[in-house]
Amino acid sequence: MKKYTIGVDLGGTTITAGIVDEEFKVLHKCTCDTDLPQPEEVIEEKIANLCRQVLVESNLTLDDLLWVGIGTPGSVNSKTGVVDFNANFGYYDWELRDHMEKRLGCKVYIENDANAAAYGEFIAGGARGAKYAVVITLGTGIGGGIIIDGKIFAGFNYAGAELGHMVIQKDGRPCMCGRNGCWEKYASARALAEDTKAAMLSHPKNMMWQLVDGDITKVGAKTAFDGMAAGDELATQLINKFVEYVACGLTNVVNIFQPEIICIGGGVSKQGEVLLAPVRKLVNWEDYARDGKRRVTIKPAELFNDAGVVGAAWLGNQEKL
Ligand SMILES: [Zn+2]
Repeated sequence: MKKYTIGVDLGGTTITAGIVDEEFKVLHKCTCDTDLPQPEEVIEEKIANLCRQVLVESNLTLDDLLWVGIGTPGSVNSKTGVVDFNANFGYYDWELRDHMEKRLGCKVYIENDANAAAYGEFIAGGARGAKYAVVITLGTGIGGGIIIDGKIFAGFNYAGAELGHMVIQKDGRPCMCGRNGCWEKYASARALAEDTKAAMLSHPKNMMWQLVDGDITKVGAKTAFDGMAAGDELATQLINKFVEYVACGLTNVVNIFQPEIICIGGGVSKQGEVLLAPVRKLVNWEDYARDGKRRVTIKPAELFNDAGVVGAAWLGNQEKL
């Protein structure tokens, strides 16, 4: 009986394919390098090879599969199966679904990678059980995925849910999207790391230098959290500011969507309550519906690196909605 699927997480650095069962468990994963830049055909071949490899290593065949789901960066039209535009890879109008169905000989679904990861958290992770959920990943940028009534919301042109590019500071820091003051320029893990570096450079005697052996290139988003834990004043200021930035964007998200659950993912979310407790306090304070009985729950994501694979694997269930 067909009861497995393959979820593929196509990233700019690596491609991962995983066998996922009906209980949304990842049974086995294979990974290869993306090695960009590459022509579309090479990426398709890499995905196909990875799918074959993960099947063989799991003692399964195509007959055991319901389908293959792929999460890919870019504006992804899940209906036509075409990646309209993928800036990182330099592709336009990539007919990924049809090409992969021909290569693999089975049904294929495709979706934007952040949406697929949000769907993973929704079916099997921190947003489980919520009808309305928003999943936010604080990473190099800020990725977002919106689930409304169990369905991935992507806008009429499949380019929606770009939460990281809402402006929280008019005429603020320039963003690669062309606007100034985008949320991800302040509240992403990278932004925190950059702010920490700048603060350390203007405070050459600060204790955070010891945390990175005097090497500025070792500064990451964790550095200021570690500094704060050690009682450093500058690090505490950096984290307080970061918390304000995160909460500002989150409050906007809450006021627009009022989701039941917001899941926060990405490396910094591993700081747990050190980050989430003050963020929650600010959002609860500023939320327009603060006097209401039913309030949004803000919690950490649970699947982390597997969210993309799990969500992609069960994209086929979206079709039934
Ligand atoms: Zn932007």
